Amino acid sequence: MDLSEKPVPSLPEFTFAGRSNVGKSSLINSLVNRKNFARVSKEPGKTRSINYYLINELFYFVDLPGYGYAKVSKTEKKKWQTAIEKYILKNEQIRIIFILIDGLVGPQENDLQLIEWFKYNKIGFMIIVTKIDRINNNRRVQLKNTLVKNLELDERTRVVLFSTKTLQGKEEILNNIDHMLR
Ligand code: GDP
Repeated sequence: MDLSEKPVPSLPEFTFAGRSNVGKSSLINSLVNRKNFARVSKEPGKTRSINYYLINELFYFVDLPGYGYAKVSKTEKKKWQTAIEKYILKNEQIRIIFILIDGLVGPQENDLQLIEWFKYNKIGFMIIVTKIDRINNNRRVQLKNTLVKNLELDERTRVVLFSTKTLQGKEEILNNIDHMLR
């Protein structure tokens, strides 16, 4: 969408970014306790627009289009990049961007590029590792450490392990949102 279509009123924004199929819609649905609030995609890479969800008349969840889906053309990828850059830069309403990383596949090249870009532009972000129920306990700690190392995160960057099945991490994410609204 175009920035001129930005919804009124202007309220704080909590933004979700991640590769197609990472579990972004599922996460948003689980945070708002609804089943089909955000659309869970049957066809990865299909959702190409920026979606705003007004929550409790207080703030927005902003769902950025999923990136990195193999079947998407170069032109489409470029479009995604332009849309996200336009949305993020100079947007003072963004409180934080949640970058979702698929716990089953780990960080991919385009996740790393996105994170680099965020760091370079000094944009606050937090990492959410999804589908954590599919990973055994021993591997979880290891996964978190590897992520911190591979993504070259500083110690202030939060990494939350999340699952829509067990709801692990949900409280932590909601507490962070609550904190940033004060
Ligand atoms: P999106 O494309 O990023 O919005 O991803 P979706 O929310 O549509 O989820 C993609 C697929 O991953 C779906 O089949 C979901 O059921 C599955 N999924 C999402 N979150 C979880 C999770 O926490 N655990 C497991 N096991 N599967 C998940």
